[in-house]
Order: sequence, then C-alpha cells, then structure tokens
Amino acid sequence: MPVHIEQLSVILNELNLHKAVLVAVSKTKPVEEIMAVYNSGHKIFGENYVQELVEKHEQLPKDIQWHFIGHLQSNKVKLIAPFVSLIHSVDSFKLLKEIDKEAKKNNRIIHCLLQVYIAQEETKFGFSFEEAENLLGSPGLTDLKNISIDGFMGMATLTDDENQIRKEFHSLKNFFASIKAQSGILNPKSEILSMGMTSDYKIALEEGSNMVRIGSAIFGERN
Ligand SMILES: *Cc1c(COP(=O)(O)O)cnc(C)c1O
Repeated sequence: MPVHIEQLSVILNELNLHKAVLVAVSKTKPVEEIMAVYNSGHKIFGENYVQELVEKHEQLPKDIQWHFIGHLQSNKVKLIAPFVSLIHSVDSFKLLKEIDKEAKKNNRIIHCLLQVYIAQEETKFGFSFEEAENLLGSPGLTDLKNISIDGFMGMATLTDDENQIRKEFHSLKNFFASIKAQSGILNPKSEILSMGMTSDYKIALEEGSNMVRIGSAIFGERN
C-alpha cells in the first residue's frame, strides 16, 4: 500500500499551527514505506515492538529519531537503550530505574514520558494522576541521573463520543500544566504532552497536545 505523502503534508501543516511535533507511527510497516516518508523530509518515527524497532534501526538511516511508544518490558530496555530518542510509555518506577541503568551503560541520557491512564478502558497501561505525581515527588528519582522526564503520554478511550475523548485529553492537559508549574520536576527545555492518534489528534491538539502519534493516516490501515 502506498504511503499517503499528501496527507502527511496536510497533517504537518495542521501541526505547525499548534507548534506540535509529529511522530509517524510505522509499526508493522516495511522499511521501504518508512523510506518514502523519510525521503519527504520527516525523520521522527514511532514503533511499539522492541524487536521490530531494533531491526528497523539497523536497516534505516542513522539520523532517524526513533520513539518507543508501546508497552516496554524491563528486560528489553537494553536492546533500545543505545539509540532510542524518546520513550513515551514509562509505566512503572522499576522500568524507569532500568532505563536509567542502561542509559548509564551507554553513557547517555534517555528522555522519557510517563504514560498516564486517562481512558475508561481497563486494558490500557499507565499511571493514575496520583501515582504519576507521587513518582515525580519521590526522593529516589534524583538518583536517576541518566534519565530525563520530559512530560506525559496519554491515550483516550476508543469511542465515537467526542466529548468523552475531549474530557480525557483535557484532564491530562490540566495535570501537565500543574506539574509544569512546579519548577524543576520536568525538563524545562523540552516539555512534552504526547496525545492524539489518527482518530483523535484534532481533538488532542485543541486540548493542548504538542506531540501526536499518527500511523494509519500516513501509512494506511494496518492488517
Ligand atoms: C499504533 C499506535 C498509534 C498510532 O495509531 P493510528 O491510529 O494508526 O494513528 C499511536 N499511539 C500508540 C501508542 C500506538 O500503539
């Protein structure tokens, strides 16, 4: 299936108005299709399986910024630690400690977002607002010198109810604002609110997202 390059430029224009960044979600898509997007000038891609990300990283140009957006198991962190640019899906303190350990081995800082649970569905990973706030205030956090917490990622309920989606994004936006207001917690050079995918990114932008993760609108439906 061909990549929707025209749709990509429409999306990039929309994002520009909101000063938001696009993560082109390329999971399950072949390297040829990623190259088509890359050759149009876009270099930020998101994957949610470790093995697939590692293989694509090996095969594709080294100036691609790879974001990890899926559920990450602690024992797989070492595979992506040498090169990953942002992990959107940190959902436990244990995982954060593991990322710090592997980042240190690689002599780098790994940028992370805390995944916050905003949807009504039971199956989504992530912290509650309270858990995220507790983690950010925990004394042990300052020992982790090789991670940077830049913000939050959230996924809204898969529903046609726009008001529900808006309410969920809005709640994360408010949380983000309250944490930002407490200086020194988030990396002030890069404060990121990752919200919105193909079906709901317009609502997410209206609700203050500054990073969207879009797959099917660019690469076509996945099988
Ligand atoms: C697959 C995925 C996306 C992109 O979904 P589309 O509906 O194809 O835009 C965004 N975020 C996460 C976490 C995903 O797993």
